[in-house]
Amino acid sequence: MNRRGQLFTLLLLVALSAGAGACIARGWYAVSLVPVAAAVIAACRLLSRQNRTMQDLRGFVNAIKFEEFNISFRRSVECGLDAEIGAKLEEALAILGEKTRQKEGRLNFYDLLLNRVDFAIVCVDREERVTWINKAAVNMVGRLRALSDFSPALRASIRELATGEVKTVTLPGERGGKDVAVSVANAYIRGDELRIISLKNIRPIIEQTESEAWRKLVSILRHEIMNSMAPIISLAETFSTPDTELDPALIHKTMQTIHRRGKGLVEFVRNYKQLTDISAPRLAPFRVREMLEDITVLLEARGIRFTYRVHPADLVIKADRVQIEQVLINLVKNAWEAAERAEHPLVNVAADLDNFQRPRIAVSDNGEGILPDASERLFIPFFTTKKNGSGIGLSVCKQIVGAHGGSITVASVPNEGSCFTIRL
Ligand code: ADP
Repeated sequence: MNRRGQLFTLLLLVALSAGAGACIARGWYAVSLVPVAAAVIAACRLLSRQNRTMQDLRGFVNAIKFEEFNISFRRSVECGLDAEIGAKLEEALAILGEKTRQKEGRLNFYDLLLNRVDFAIVCVDREERVTWINKAAVNMVGRLRALSDFSPALRASIRELATGEVKTVTLPGERGGKDVAVSVANAYIRGDELRIISLKNIRPIIEQTESEAWRKLVSILRHEIMNSMAPIISLAETFSTPDTELDPALIHKTMQTIHRRGKGLVEFVRNYKQLTDISAPRLAPFRVREMLEDITVLLEARGIRFTYRVHPADLVIKADRVQIEQVLINLVKNAWEAAERAEHPLVNVAADLDNFQRPRIAVSDNGEGILPDASERLFIPFFTTKKNGSGIGLSVCKQIVGAHGGSITVASVPNEGSCFTIRL
């Protein structure tokens, strides 16, 4: 029964009731039975139609509830449901079904993506319960339920870490365990505060870097030792031949060469010791401005001039002051040597806090800049482009800054200058 049919039945019901009323008023009781009976039949039809509509609506609601979006209302239409309403209900279900499928597709995509990456990802809520964990994390730490199930070192690091910070933690396990880089990000999802923890096994990278460092070191040692020993051996060989004429001038020159090469080797070993003897930093708070004032006096005595800017002026950092001084002296000295040939040599030190409120000190100059092929080797021990350079200054800087848990980076433009930045 469509809407028009319903309206007709309703009007008929009213008319029949009025007719029945009129018959009763005139005392035609027997005649009044006809409109009364017809009115009862019309009312029953209307009621049954009402029930049918309620049934169809319940079917529609259940279809949404149980996500059965391919339900047809054809039978309902055959049984009297308005064809237009039936079509609209089917259309609504089809749209809902398509949207749900799209949403599921997106969810599956992200689920697949996050389970395929070789980064371990764990989400914990405010009560430190694990709310989500990807496959890589399950493989790395197991299927854990709460932060309290993590190893003590990892747990402590996660609690201490601020957003954007990265820490290395050794997880217990076979072959000395795993070295894992841990970082944490905070997110608010559906009103819940979540901590997203990412873990990356960096042991393979460390091993690769270590073997690379060994290879470089062996090649440096070989180069330095051979440079000194080869002339000594060859000269000693010449003089150990019995029939060699012992010209005093030649002996003198030879001895000078042997002395120079021997001294060079001793110097190299001394420098090497300087590189390996860096002690663990003793951290204490100090004012950056005061340290820079002291360095100014120290370097001016050696003819090195630089300007500095500290923001905020009373910036205090917690570090090993002696070691950071050593780093800045090296950097300013290098900057001065690079800028010395410029018309107006400029060396500036700028100290401030970066976006993560971490102390940052940048040493910039308007010198010759760094050649592209040299920039990759700057921090390698004994790399130098200077005639009398030792090539250990920047290696020492890198070690000290690394021991503070910081980083040192360089940016340079040939013939315009360089800027070395340390972040602590
Ligand atoms: P050294 O100063 O004894 O050479 P370093 O380790 O301090 O040793 O520096 C290594 C090399 O890095 C230098 O020889 C130079 O080529 C390059 N370098 C360092 N600082 C600068 C700078 N500010 N500008 C240009 N080159 C630089």
